[in-house]
Amino acid sequence: MVELKSPAEIQRMAVTGRFVAEVLSELRTKAQIGVNLLELEAVVRERIRERGAVSCYWDYSPSFGRGPFRNTVCLSVNDAVLHGLPFDYALRDGDVLTMDLAVSIDGWVADSAVTVIVGTPDPEDTRLVRATEDALAAAIAVARPGNTIGDLSAAIAAVAEAGGYPINTEFGGHGLGRTMHEDPHIPNQGRAGRGFWLRPGLTIAIEPWFARGTDRIVTDPDGWTLRAADGSRTAHSEHTVAITDTEPLVLTRAS
Ligand code: MG
Ligand code: MG
Repeated sequence: MVELKSPAEIQRMAVTGRFVAEVLSELRTKAQIGVNLLELEAVVRERIRERGAVSCYWDYSPSFGRGPFRNTVCLSVNDAVLHGLPFDYALRDGDVLTMDLAVSIDGWVADSAVTVIVGTPDPEDTRLVRATEDALAAAIAVARPGNTIGDLSAAIAAVAEAGGYPINTEFGGHGLGRTMHEDPHIPNQGRAGRGFWLRPGLTIAIEPWFARGTDRIVTDPDGWTLRAADGSRTAHSEHTVAITDTEPLVLTRAS
């Protein structure tokens, strides 16, 4: 079931969105060569505690994971792309790191992810990260009444195809609000004009992610981390967006 939010409820989600954006900005600065993933996890725990927020990941036990998850941020390095379990690893020059954060404040959730390149980037990794950012921007540009979920999916897929990246449709975007995952599902590939009509009050996480060489993913022995099946590098960009009568509101944009 899709729950539409009132303007006041969207403003409450925007409060959470600002916090998520601030923490991701801090992580972006801190993700340097030699920094351990567990240090980044510790930063997020501390910020969540200070703010009185609730992690959406802590104790998360979906059907596909080996729950419960006992961390507050997903950190996915190189060929890992989604649900990366923070572990004892010091970042190296050229690593591609995705940081995905979802929290709830006063009962309202926001969810966002960024991918950064640590130290010296491989130009092909830079191109990949930009493709996910461009795909996210393309989807946000059509996130308005009169369009459908299929228009979002098609906008993402067009950017992926132009870049030569295969698309996985198992994991994509989703509605959110009182909880992290609500209807509707937003695949990263689809037909323009098809699917649920976008309408004011719909709040969604849009999250294109691509691997350089494959659309297939495999799960790590840790039971959580999803990796590109061919070991190629991956990237992921995500914002929480509210549909309005006019321009979409990006609730997790860094100010
Ligand atoms: Mg996320
Ligand atoms: Mg999400």
